[in-house]
Amino acid sequence: MSDYDFDLITIGAGSGGVAASRRATVHGARVAICEGDRVGGTCVIRGCVPKKLLMYASQFADAFADAPGFGWEIVPPSFDLAALTAAKNRETARLETIYRKMLADAKVTLLEGQARLVDAHTVEVGGRRVSAGHILIATGGTPSAPAIDGLELAISSNELLDLTELPRRLLVLGAGYIAVEFAGIFAGFGSEVIQAYRADLPLRGFDDDIRTRLATAMSERGVALRPGFAPVKLERSANGIRCTAKNGEVIEADVVLSALGRRPNTDGLGLTEVGVELDAKSGAIRVSPDSRTTVDSIYAVGDVTDRAALTPVAIAEGRAFADTVFGNTPRVVDHRLIATAVFSQPSIGTIGLSEPDAIAAGHQVTVFEADFRPMKHTLAGRTERAYMKVIVDTASDKVLGAHLIGADSGEIIQALAIAITMGATKADLDRTLAVHPTSAEELVLLR
Ligand code: FAD
Ligand code: NDP
Repeated sequence: MSDYDFDLITIGAGSGGVAASRRATVHGARVAICEGDRVGGTCVIRGCVPKKLLMYASQFADAFADAPGFGWEIVPPSFDLAALTAAKNRETARLETIYRKMLADAKVTLLEGQARLVDAHTVEVGGRRVSAGHILIATGGTPSAPAIDGLELAISSNELLDLTELPRRLLVLGAGYIAVEFAGIFAGFGSEVIQAYRADLPLRGFDDDIRTRLATAMSERGVALRPGFAPVKLERSANGIRCTAKNGEVIEADVVLSALGRRPNTDGLGLTEVGVELDAKSGAIRVSPDSRTTVDSIYAVGDVTDRAALTPVAIAEGRAFADTVFGNTPRVVDHRLIATAVFSQPSIGTIGLSEPDAIAAGHQVTVFEADFRPMKHTLAGRTERAYMKVIVDTASDKVLGAHLIGADSGEIIQALAIAITMGATKADLDRTLAVHPTSAEELVLLR
């Protein structure tokens, strides 16, 4: 028996921290977890889950618009954001209860309050000092606030998720995951949405064919896109908030969403004081592939390490840490092939290399594409198209990447990710029989 109070103290009861703590108890470790806010973390309380619920709510707009094409007569629908927010809050409260029960069932001690490191084995939380053989930092991230005058007039996704009154005019600043997802959601609710970003297309880093098609689809759905808009100043005006760009352009709105990225949550943790080094540029905790920081007894997983800010990645890193340190099964997470979905409207699913990245990595590539109008859109009278792109290494026939945009792409990519993770070749896709009539069948009919 060690002299420490616990074998592991985890700071942060979000996706990575909860997964790591529960897995450590499976290996027999005595575990405590500190949480300064709500148990469940970003994904459950103010990220993936509430966002997806709002997305489902906004998609009813499409159903109402499409229904007459299928013979339905629709009385003018109305939408109540307060009712949706209340329902969403009930669901996140239910999930928080489940998370608390999961921790209790696993005999993880929950220590509520903001925690900070005292030394390499001691944490202070809620006025109490506790010690452990190992400490895991899983404190996640928080919306970043670049130096833009008056940015405090804008809200972040945290507050947007709790609005009870629908903004008539919503300005979304940024063009990453959060910006495109919420622009689509609020356009579906009926707000006039303007999305302004400094690049020429949304979703930097994604395949350009997907980015171009997303911009077209968003515009067709009524989101006013303003590329080349680098915000420098926000100020109150008689009718709302005015946002001015570097080039002098001005946009006015009732609510401004700042979706300008997220930064690792490291403030006040006492990290550098105990020797945990941070990356100078991103402020993330520097870790080795097995999530060890520059202090031997302290590890870090999830968004605070800025490897890939996605829930399944935080969970995988947390479990790999627990298996390595407490389960005598050393392993690391492979960050090279991460499937991801953007819940834009229409959604995007992607895995592996984009075409330029594949070429830059030295591959000679063959690109297969399908560009089609989904069957459902015919009777509905929608012009929106779906697009699929598969990038293949010409020499080996191996699939290097797949990029989809269109209804259900966020669902379809998961199954395709299994095949690609297993090393699928184009010939493997070709010998797979189609499921008809679906959109996904296009993936096995590419010529
Ligand atoms: P978190 O889940 O953020 O948990 C960190 C916890 O640490 C928090 O509960 C925090 O309160 C606590 N904490 C911080 N500091 C302290 C301290 N000093 N003491 C005690 N507790 C502390 N990912 C997806 O895969 N799919 C999605 O669809 C998706 N949608 C998203 C939508 C939004 C709007 C946002 C913001 C994020 C979304 N993400 C999504 C990203 C996902 O939420 C994160 O990658 C994931 O939650 C990271 O898990 P984590 O364990 O690193 O941190
Ligand atoms: P992203 O990093 O995806 O996007 C940030 C956006 O802000 C970019 O458009 C960037 O522009 C812009 N930006 C940053 N700084 C400035 C500035 N000073 N002036 C103008 N524009 C600026 O961050 P998000 O906040 O959207 O999301 C954070 C992460 O959370 C994501 O990367 C993802 O990992 C995760 N997430 C995942 C989701 C999912 O899985 N569906 C959903 C939501 C979040 P530029 O590109 O030009 O640099």
